[in-house]
Amino acid sequence: MEKIKSIGIMGGTFDPIHYGHLMVASCAVEAFGLEKVFFVPSRIPPHKMNQQITSPEMRYEMTLLATMDNPWFSVSRVELERNGMSYTVDTIKYFQSEFPDYRIYFITGADTIVEIVSWKAPEELFAMTYFITAARPGYSFSGLQNEFYQRYKDKIAILEVPELAISSTGIRRRVKMGKSIKYYLHPLVEAYISKHQLYR
Ligand code: ATP
Ligand code: MG
Repeated sequence: MEKIKSIGIMGGTFDPIHYGHLMVASCAVEAFGLEKVFFVPSRIPPHKMNQQITSPEMRYEMTLLATMDNPWFSVSRVELERNGMSYTVDTIKYFQSEFPDYRIYFITGADTIVEIVSWKAPEELFAMTYFITAARPGYSFSGLQNEFYQRYKDKIAILEVPELAISSTGIRRRVKMGKSIKYYLHPLVEAYISKHQLYR
């Protein structure tokens, strides 16, 4: 029997991308034999409309800098090029058309997987993809007990990761307070934040 070829999609705001994101993606590659993980920075995240976010191009550049040294990682501009709100269901359709014989895994942290039920077209999303989800300090998977997720439980895999209590919100807050963000994210991203005076 031929082995199923798989890719991973990691969506996010990446404002900025940090070691929590990179660790989860890397563990997913190893555990599921993914050929690639595509990091997909969102242009306009529907759930973050009422907060100030860094320009999509700068978030894209930081994502490139953070992933450049890993041959399994790529960054996709698909949501940046698409007009309107960034919906994951549209992104998955795009990857399906680009990778017709691949299994597509959408990779998330524990906080995000339990929110998908409230995203656009969750049924369609679960029909098209498999999910890999990683524990995240401060969040639980208890939301997965609800009826919607129970219906799709065979398509949701829990990924073992060294859990990192790192968030973009925490990083932005540290920069604002003048604290160091060394060891929270890739040094090239740290340098980029400092050069462009982000999050001050
Ligand atoms: P913010 O604080 O701005 O929401 P964030 O750190 O949550 O930022 P996002 O860009 O919102 O980062 O997250 C993108 C994806 O990465 C989501 O699926 C989220 O659950 C996951 N993720 C982010 N940080 C971690 C972490 N430390 N451990 C596990 N998953 C994470
Ligand atoms: Mg988040």
